[in-house]
Amino acid sequence: MSNHPETIFDKILAGEIPCHRVYEDDQVLAFLDIGPLSSGHTLVIPKERKAQLDQLSDDAAAAIGRVMPRLCRAVMKATGATAYNVLQNNGASAHQAVMHVHFHIIPRLGPDGLGIRWNPSSLNGDDAADLVRAITEALAQDG
Ligand code: AMP
Repeated sequence: MSNHPETIFDKILAGEIPCHRVYEDDQVLAFLDIGPLSSGHTLVIPKERKAQLDQLSDDAAAAIGRVMPRLCRAVMKATGATAYNVLQNNGASAHQAVMHVHFHIIPRLGPDGLGIRWNPSSLNGDDAADLVRAITEALAQDG
C-alpha cells in the first residue's frame, strides 16, 4: 500500500495528530485544511497510502469519487458558496507539498487565497492526432 515516506496525513489517519474531521468511511477521510485559502477549504484523502493520483487503485479512486459530490454539496451549504474549485496537485512542480493523494475543495467566496493563471495556447491538428494516438495506446496498455 505504501510507496512514499510517511507524511503528516499518515499521522492524521493514525490518530497521532488531530484534525478537524468532517467525514470518514472505510476508505476516505475529509478534514479542514489547516491553511485555508477560503473559509470551508476541505481536504479529501484516500486511506490508501499513495503519493499521486496516477498511483491510486481503482477501488480507492472509486471510493473518493463516490463521496466527492456529497462533500462538495455539504461544503457549499455550510459556507453559502455557489462556486468552488476542486484542486488536486501531483508532484512538487505541480505545487504538491504533502505527498499523499488529496483533493482540495475550495469554496469561492469573493477575493481569497486561490490564484489561477490560465494562459491557453491553441491545439494544433497534427499535435492533437499524435496525442490522441499516444494516449489511447497508453490506455490500451494499462491494465
Ligand atoms: P498541496 O500543496 O496540494 O500538497 O496541499 C497540502 C495542503 O495540506 C495545504 O493546503 C496545507 O495547508 C494542508 N495541510 C498540511 N498539514 C495539514 C494538517 N496537519 N491539517 C490540515 N491540513 C494540512
